[in-house]
Amino acid sequence: MPVIVVVGAQFGDEAKGKVTDYLAANATFVVRTGGGPNAGHTIEIPEGKVVLHQLPCGVLRYGVTAVCGPGMVLDPTALDEEIRTLQERRMFKGSLVVSERAHAILPTHIAEDAWEEKVRTATHPGAELGTTMRGIGPAYADRYGRWGIRFGELIHPAKLQQRLELLVASKPHLKELVDLPAMQAKLAEVASRLAPYVQPTEPTLWSALARQETVLLEGAQSALLDVDFGTYPYVTSHHPTSAGALVGSGIPPFEVSEVVGVTKAYATRVGAGPFPTEVEGDLGAYLQREGGERGATTGRVRQVGWLDLVLLRYVTKLNGFTSLALTKVDVLGGLDDVPVAVQYVTPDGRTLTDYPPSDAEELAHVTPVYEKLPAWPKFNERLTARLREEGASALPSPLKRFVEYLGRETGVPVEWVSYGPRREETVWLGKSHGGPSAGAVTAWAQ
Ligand code: GDP
Repeated sequence: MPVIVVVGAQFGDEAKGKVTDYLAANATFVVRTGGGPNAGHTIEIPEGKVVLHQLPCGVLRYGVTAVCGPGMVLDPTALDEEIRTLQERRMFKGSLVVSERAHAILPTHIAEDAWEEKVRTATHPGAELGTTMRGIGPAYADRYGRWGIRFGELIHPAKLQQRLELLVASKPHLKELVDLPAMQAKLAEVASRLAPYVQPTEPTLWSALARQETVLLEGAQSALLDVDFGTYPYVTSHHPTSAGALVGSGIPPFEVSEVVGVTKAYATRVGAGPFPTEVEGDLGAYLQREGGERGATTGRVRQVGWLDLVLLRYVTKLNGFTSLALTKVDVLGGLDDVPVAVQYVTPDGRTLTDYPPSDAEELAHVTPVYEKLPAWPKFNERLTARLREEGASALPSPLKRFVEYLGRETGVPVEWVSYGPRREETVWLGKSHGGPSAGAVTAWAQ
């Protein structure tokens, strides 16, 4: 049976980590399929709060194997530290494998990230992308330029030496950016500690699927940051879509049974790029505060805005969502009403409902048209206790109507509602269109 793909349906930070961790109760493998230390999934488990950057959230559960998949670019030093920190906190409960095909982010890539932003701003002030400065873009560029260093090479000193010589020969400016001999020595040392984790991961996943086990593909970054289908050039350097999850894991399409789109009840964006439904002023500051909208990786405050149905309809089609997980509904509790953008009007008077302009500048100049939906009450202890005991039937009526409204507007049912960071602060609504479901998760406190 199933491969369940979890995809961020907005600009990131939708609580994909929480949703994947929740669904992992029924999985034996959890695979990260792209990106690297630019992700920051904050997950609250019974032992405390964890921020995972490169490790898939499967490491937090006994009996689950976390897989850093072939599509990732991993910072070996940061990965080594992340493993050790989690082990010291006694939260590393699952096991870990790292694909021999995943690429290494080198100190040169991190230096190049800053160097590239400088080149952009020096050429066109305001052209910076607002990257996380973790070397992700340059590492993917080298991957596709065929200069990259894969984990299968990183762990063999002779191969590492040869690949590094090629990489440095391809970029004369690298010599000025980093101390190359020191970098090589450090990489070799870290690689020796990571070597036991490195192996082919596709056959392991194929065997698990042959045994009918559940494999979760954990989203990192989000569909609107996809390098081709997002708000280019303000995007990440890989494909955080359902299709990208397959490329990044080596799992064929016919194995996929569910694609879960994760969306907040509002929206946020961090870094540069268009954000049509942004809310500024006191209300924006209120949502930032209530939602704790600050990046776990970078500490940057996130811009906030209203839910954008034009974008949500677009990513629903793009990814083939079979259900939605609606998160952070508690943040909007107690507002006067809940605005939702239902369409855009372009400067030349056209109406757009489900396909945004591909040009980032054009997207920045659309005027969203809002529908105001009735708000639900502020969440309090009494309501959350009822939700824990009674489940979906205890959701406030306006919130139930909001959920139904989203299902109608996107054509996809909302299957989960999250009203707090913890595992148990989640209700499963079932699947209105029937069929096998990933949602029948009962055991969250392993
Ligand atoms: P991700 O990268 O998509 O996993 O998202 P982040 O971890 O960057 O951001 C989501 C944040 O919201 C984290 O701090 C979570 O602990 C928190 N969170 C998750 N679900 C909820 C929820 O339903 N309500 C509230 N208030 N916070 C939540």
